[in-house]
Amino acid sequence: MSLSTLTKPADAPSTVDASVPYYQSVGNECEMFEQAFAQRLPLLLKGPTGCGKTRFISHMAAKLGKPLHTVSCHDDLTAADLTGRYLLKGGETQWVDGPLTRAVREGGICYLDEVVEARKDVTVVLHPLTDDRRVLPLERTGELLEAPDDFMLVVSYNPGYQHILKSLKPSTRQRFVAMSFDFPPPAVERDIVAKESGLPAERCAALVNLAASLRGMKGQDLEEGISTRLLIYCATLIQAGMPILDAARATIVEPLSDDADVQEGLMEAVRATF
Ligand code: ADP
Repeated sequence: MSLSTLTKPADAPSTVDASVPYYQSVGNECEMFEQAFAQRLPLLLKGPTGCGKTRFISHMAAKLGKPLHTVSCHDDLTAADLTGRYLLKGGETQWVDGPLTRAVREGGICYLDEVVEARKDVTVVLHPLTDDRRVLPLERTGELLEAPDDFMLVVSYNPGYQHILKSLKPSTRQRFVAMSFDFPPPAVERDIVAKESGLPAERCAALVNLAASLRGMKGQDLEEGISTRLLIYCATLIQAGMPILDAARATIVEPLSDDADVQEGLMEAVRATF
């Protein structure tokens, strides 16, 4: 199921390009991104899962008319996965660019999602790209690639998941312009949930209020507050005709916890709302 929308929101001004994914700005983040891009500065986005970081970058890339190269980082991801490697093709070894190298050669925005998950050697290739050299040395091919003016590196991570072994070192963090993302204010989140799901805004307001109270449980019983993404799932199922309590169980209670007591507590909050 794809919940992303490439269509123009109903009440958007007519100047909005329909090919630009819908993103509702919360502060000056669009301006900051545009300036960072224009000044060739790398960007770091911090924030909980499902709060709009990826949508923001898709929106900005489309708005600037630049290709977007996205990599979801995981704990096996190495520098070679980003830069490229020699592969055997028809009996011959051939160099194949990785997504970072492609972005540096062709220009555009390279987005490394959850960068702290990647192996430590990744920072070695990021450092020369994130200072005024803006170069990518490819040891294996002997090339030194200079990033074009329209190349931009964007990384994100979720500070909530961080533990001592997985955080960005100050020497890496201090190479980026950084912005914190959080769940949007209630009125904005209500509009986002309504636009993405098609459920009327008045009905989305109750979901957003429920989310606010559940987010208050973060740290006590819940590792992470409920995401805007899950609220959209819930509203989408309700709009499709699922009974509210079933939709809420499947999109709020089950994804947030495996603990029977916590689930019961969440269900109580759901019943009190609807
Ligand atoms: P993240 O990358 O932070 O994990 P996403 O960007 O994937 O989260 O956001 C999850 C979903 O929430 C998006 O697909 C989009 O539907 C919605 N969303 C969140 N914030 C916004 C926003 N400000 N404007 C429009 N949609 C948003």
